[in-house]
Amino acid sequence: MRFGRANATTTSPIAAGRRGPIEAWQFAKAWRVSSRVLSVVLDAPLDTAFDYLWVATQEEQVPTKGQLVLVPFGRRQTIGLVIAVKDSSEIEPAKLRQLLQVRGQLPALSDHWISLCRFAAEYYQRPLGEVALPSLPKGLRTESTVALDRGLKKLAQTPPQPMPDTSVQRPQLNTEQHIAVDAIVSAEGYQAYLLFGVTGSGKTEVYLNAAERVLQRARDDGRPAQVLIMVPEINLTPQLEASVRARFPGLQVVSLHSQLAEGERLRHWLAAHIGRADIVLGTRLAVLSSMPHLNMIIIDEEHDPSYKQQEGLRYSARDLAVWRAHQLQIPVVLGSATPSAESWLHVSTGRYQRLQLTQRAAQNAQLPKVRLIDTEINKAADGFSPPLLAALKQRLEKGEQSLLFLNRRGYAPVMHCDACGWISNCRRCTAFMVLHKPERRLRCHHCSLELRIPPACPTCGNVDLQPLGRGTQRVEEHLQHVFPDARVMRIDADSTRRKGSAQAAFDAVHRGDVDILLGTQMVAKGHDFQRLTLVGVINPDTALFSQDYRAGERLFAQLMQVAGRAGRAGRTTVNDDGASQSEVLIQTRYPQHPLYQALLAHDYQGFADTMLAERRSANLPPYSFQALLRAEAKDLQLALDFLTQARALLPHQGVSINDPVPMAMTRVAGIERAQLLLESASRPQLQAFLRPWMQALRSIKTRVNWMLEVDPIDI
Ligand code: ADP
Ligand code: ZN
Ligand code: ZN
Repeated sequence: MRFGRANATTTSPIAAGRRGPIEAWQFAKAWRVSSRVLSVVLDAPLDTAFDYLWVATQEEQVPTKGQLVLVPFGRRQTIGLVIAVKDSSEIEPAKLRQLLQVRGQLPALSDHWISLCRFAAEYYQRPLGEVALPSLPKGLRTESTVALDRGLKKLAQTPPQPMPDTSVQRPQLNTEQHIAVDAIVSAEGYQAYLLFGVTGSGKTEVYLNAAERVLQRARDDGRPAQVLIMVPEINLTPQLEASVRARFPGLQVVSLHSQLAEGERLRHWLAAHIGRADIVLGTRLAVLSSMPHLNMIIIDEEHDPSYKQQEGLRYSARDLAVWRAHQLQIPVVLGSATPSAESWLHVSTGRYQRLQLTQRAAQNAQLPKVRLIDTEINKAADGFSPPLLAALKQRLEKGEQSLLFLNRRGYAPVMHCDACGWISNCRRCTAFMVLHKPERRLRCHHCSLELRIPPACPTCGNVDLQPLGRGTQRVEEHLQHVFPDARVMRIDADSTRRKGSAQAAFDAVHRGDVDILLGTQMVAKGHDFQRLTLVGVINPDTALFSQDYRAGERLFAQLMQVAGRAGRAGRTTVNDDGASQSEVLIQTRYPQHPLYQALLAHDYQGFADTMLAERRSANLPPYSFQALLRAEAKDLQLALDFLTQARALLPHQGVSINDPVPMAMTRVAGIERAQLLLESASRPQLQAFLRPWMQALRSIKTRVNWMLEVDPIDI
């Protein structure tokens, strides 16, 4: 029971469990001891804050907004975040539970950080507590303070770092890099920059110089300052970390990503939070880190889909970073050779300022020459056309490195029986079981089901089952057969399962212990391979005919990116015609396709302008705004019925809601999946609809598991 007006955002935790101790409150009142009511959010699927009573014991400071507290919740204890400190509650005093502990040793999280979480919560339609608390390292969210105290102690033992060391060798910036750095550091308040630079144009050098000048200027003014640098892929953090550390031996640099050990992650997070870390390098999760002195944000490879979190809170780290920069009135730099459609549009409307690097930076380095190998003419045997084999052989003879890109792991995507037509369907998913030959397994990449390779066809008993198509393992096998002396290294999710193995593999490539590097998109991104002069792309065509309207944009970015690994150091191979240049060979049946023609000319702009024109005429993002309601159930009809009900729930002016449909991959791990797509020409209109709609959805009693995604990228 409550006193006074019911308040939707104030709930007593007592409702969720046993009665709290009331003596403290009575004691406080009777003795006029200082007491407060704290409004606390928890990691719970309830869009509400809970009131707790705080009573002073000796010498204790009054808790503040942004502090972490240990509270009773139902029958358990949990960590909460204080979002307001009040004199009284609308909860009946006797029902107010007392908090257990204030984590006073941890400085409060800033108002800015709470606003960031609140914005993300509202925009992505999640409770604030479910955004804020899971973004903190686990060591802060446990009942025990051992990890926290140990982390703080360690930090206290390392003294603050001195000034940047200017004695370190650094390349002289070229004119375009200079212009870019000058523009970035001259920003007054918020400004978003799109650093549009071809692969190898020295974008990293621009980031480092801009970061250095921003930090230096703050130090000259006697202000503390921090810079956040984000990369899309965990495997790129060690490389960047090494260059940043080498460049700034006097600065404190920490990394934040999901593969750090818990203790390390906590220490790095704390270093950022107490302002000790000057530079934070991280993957998408770093966008939610606490950096009280943040002065600039850099997002490398801003177009990369990895910036989109695909489970839980499905946020775009890039979009949140831009919001954060705007909120703090600081510059944000988005770097890419193939910017996202969204950023390209923002440049054309003047919201982002474009900075351009048109040349490769290293001396003598040139963009590689792209050749399209028509596989109708140059028939591929075992995946390799004669020109690709010849080019590989030439590199091997010269002692130069080659890279082969095939975005499909395993040996073959399907096994089948010639005699009866059986194929290796997963019994739990709308997908094939993939043949993994070295492991002697069939594996489903969607539900992780594993089977031994059947000795004979399960339907007709034929013992001669065939692999169909090819993955990286099969290409590796063939390479070893054709070039028995070559040192071949395969890098994909299977070959790098052990912690540290990806790093070891990349180190071997950098050392020159590998002749042919073969891999999935893991090898395509960002790496500055110095010895590589040939890139071969084995079979990119499937993406040309995808249902997904973003497939073309992704393929172009991916090919441009992988092509960009070649010829970065100005090493060259002399071709038969006497010209010396590194090369990219793309095997395709459709060499005339406009996407490949644009690639041939290294013409991102032409490609992007055409793409945007198509999106505009089809009313697709970035010209419209989308949200997706997904429903999962044992029975597809249940999921579809739920979506039908959801569709009819509220009037939706300015928002069009499509018919419910099964998802492209309808079944995963035995669960049927369907979706409802919402579209609007106006982002505010879509947002205005989503809020009450979510409330209405939450009140539906259903066995269907559902989730809402705002700005989906896979539909
Ligand atoms: P991007 O990120 O644009 O693909 P990188 O930043 O990795 O390119 O730079 C590519 C290479 O060029 C690196 O080896 C880097 O050391 C070198 N480089 C960058 N700027 C310069 C410069 N001004 N002069 C000489 N070399 C440079
Ligand atoms: Zn058969
Ligand atoms: Zn499966």
